[in-house]
Amino acid sequence: MTGNSNKEPRKNIIEQIRSWLGLENPPQKYGVPQKSGFNLWYILLFFLFVTLIQQFFLPPKVETIPYSQFKQYVAEDKVGTLTIEPENIRGTLTGKTGQEFTTVRVDDPGLVKDLNDHNVSYSGRYANKLLGFIMAWIIPIGIFFLIWRFSMKKMGSGMGVMSIGKSKAKIFAESETKVSFEDVAGIDEAKEELQEIVEFLTNPGKFQKLGGRIPKGVLLVGPPGTGKTLLAKAVAGEAKVPFFSISGSEFVEMFVGVGAARVRDLFSQAAKQAPCIIFIDELDALGKARGMNVMGGHDEREQTLNQLLVEMDGFDTNKGVIIMSATNRPEILDPALLRPGRFDRQVLVDRPDINGREAILKIHAKNVLLGPEVDLRKIAGRTPGFVGADLANLVNESALLAARKDKETVEATEFDEAIDRVVGGLEKKNRVMNAREKEIVTFHESGHAIVAESVEHADPVHKISIIPRGIAALGYTQQQPTEDRYLMTRTELLDRLAVLLGGRVAEELVFDEISTGAQNDLQRATDIARSMVTEYGMSDRLGLVTYERARQPMFAPQGFAPSKTYSEEKAAQIDKEIARLVDEAHQRVRKILTERRDVLDKLAQLLSEKESVQGEELRAMMADS
Ligand code: ADP
Ligand code: MG
Ligand code: ZN
Repeated sequence: MTGNSNKEPRKNIIEQIRSWLGLENPPQKYGVPQKSGFNLWYILLFFLFVTLIQQFFLPPKVETIPYSQFKQYVAEDKVGTLTIEPENIRGTLTGKTGQEFTTVRVDDPGLVKDLNDHNVSYSGRYANKLLGFIMAWIIPIGIFFLIWRFSMKKMGSGMGVMSIGKSKAKIFAESETKVSFEDVAGIDEAKEELQEIVEFLTNPGKFQKLGGRIPKGVLLVGPPGTGKTLLAKAVAGEAKVPFFSISGSEFVEMFVGVGAARVRDLFSQAAKQAPCIIFIDELDALGKARGMNVMGGHDEREQTLNQLLVEMDGFDTNKGVIIMSATNRPEILDPALLRPGRFDRQVLVDRPDINGREAILKIHAKNVLLGPEVDLRKIAGRTPGFVGADLANLVNESALLAARKDKETVEATEFDEAIDRVVGGLEKKNRVMNAREKEIVTFHESGHAIVAESVEHADPVHKISIIPRGIAALGYTQQQPTEDRYLMTRTELLDRLAVLLGGRVAEELVFDEISTGAQNDLQRATDIARSMVTEYGMSDRLGLVTYERARQPMFAPQGFAPSKTYSEEKAAQIDKEIARLVDEAHQRVRKILTERRDVLDKLAQLLSEKESVQGEELRAMMADS
């Protein structure tokens, strides 16, 4: 319905006429869209035209006179000729003017006798029934038909009644998806994981021979602008297969059942083109968990989602159709979408680190004339937290600034200015750290990591990063469990407690000062300590008694809340015991980090240069010192 959304809104007829007449138009009401889908002027002109023709063909200056006057003319012998129609009488007067007249016929049996008496020549005539019929029926129907045709065309093929169930997936044939892996940088891990999909699409036989099962659906997860859509296109481009792309929101239509029909149609179209990729962008618009809506829910969306699940189940990957999808809100997706046989492979598309940012800048600066002193590495260093889309925007802004100043090349000053602009925009959206904050975070995360590597039972460190994530976390240390665990021993819990305190203690040691950044760590540490005391009976002083029942169901009525099963005195003892556990862990961590101070400094230094450090690098560093 957005046929002319790109033009300026057209005034409606009444307004146009008012403005012709010099009247002021009332201000437009909000929320009343100007939907002049077809041009009313054509119809107005048409009617004008018809009227003119009638004027032209009908003899002019016909006077309508009362019947009594007509009778008088007859009596005075003033009437020349007469035509008597069933309803009217037309005639001309004698004399020079030959004035025509018409009058409405009344029931007058004596008329013919009168006319004969006065020698008037008269004839009868039936009104042209055919003409009347055409005027009354054919023309209005014709006009409506034309209007209908016109508005259908305006609404576009996508909205027509005929094509309502057809999917809007665009087919990007291989020649059109010119994106390749070379156009994507900074997300190498994701690229590596998708390499396998490319191989499968180019050579499906090789995998089938070995009986391997190829994942049916690949879900790209990551913050907005990190290049998920780009990556999906690159996979299609690399594999040289058709690429069907549709956005999740396009499935959710006004009419119930349309979305489901679209899904069906999309999959049947794709099956005919195999091998190919179906890409559903912004999956969260469609795949929100069902049953979350208390007010009766969104039936249409649920139906569409169900249809998608059905189609994915019924799909045989051996046909060579891979379903890819992207979302930046994986947590709200319906769990059914993530089950095996559906989007069972999830690929994290994370924010790029400094090397990644430099590579992305290189890609986007390829077609820009850079001044000799522009150092992309430096620019990458100044833009922590930027995603690919931000960097592309940055290069573009700089080029525009240079053009505005009539420069031959884009110089460092333009980049500086553009960074300030883009950062200004970003600061509202998510935080960009200043230098001091960054220093604190590097030591904080280094502390976590070193403690994790020093204590016996903590999971080994996978990756340390100070690239801001989400709103709360400024950095993170990723540990990778070596095996599935169902039970934890006391020592393991104490080690975990130590790792959680590592960040805070590092800040203490280095800065003699503590920040608010450790709040979440302390919360979790306290939780562990509390559970050890009150649930697991792991405290020497309080013994094997548990003080906490298993959690009650979330929505149990008020009266059902479990009351404390212990006295105030015990409560104070429990608190003391928790404090003691945390305190002991604190002392222990302080000792570890003081001994490892050299590694702490070195790791923090490396982290501030590279923004992310792999676990192996840390282990090598610790072994060296
Ligand atoms: P997403 O789908 O994750 O929100 P897009 O794929 O739409 O992000 O990215 C928007 C644009 O930003 C891309 O068209 C590209 O120009 C640029 N971009 C984003 N990530 C990258 C990247 N990793 N490498 C190169 N360009 C990128
Ligand atoms: Mg996208
Ligand atoms: Zn922390």
